[in-house]
Amino acid sequence: MTDKSWMQKLAGFFGAPKSDTSEPAEEVVENPCCNGVVHIAFRGVSDERMYISYSRRWPEVKFFRPRGLRVFCADCRRRLL
Ligand SMILES: [Zn+2]
Repeated sequence: MTDKSWMQKLAGFFGAPKSDTSEPAEEVVENPCCNGVVHIAFRGVSDERMYISYSRRWPEVKFFRPRGLRVFCADCRRRLL
């Protein structure tokens, strides 16, 4: 998966307008689940270890590298990404 396609997927999660839908654009989704607080698991840049950043805001997800990225709801642990 390329970075570009990942960004397009992420844009969908954030409620960006999509060309493949006729529905009117909704406001940006700030809380995809519960309170919008998430735990973000990601792989290190120079190693294969998994790191977890706890209690981040959902909009912060876009600042993380897409490789190996996993995002979970901090409240119900549902996987969001
Ligand atoms: Zn939740």
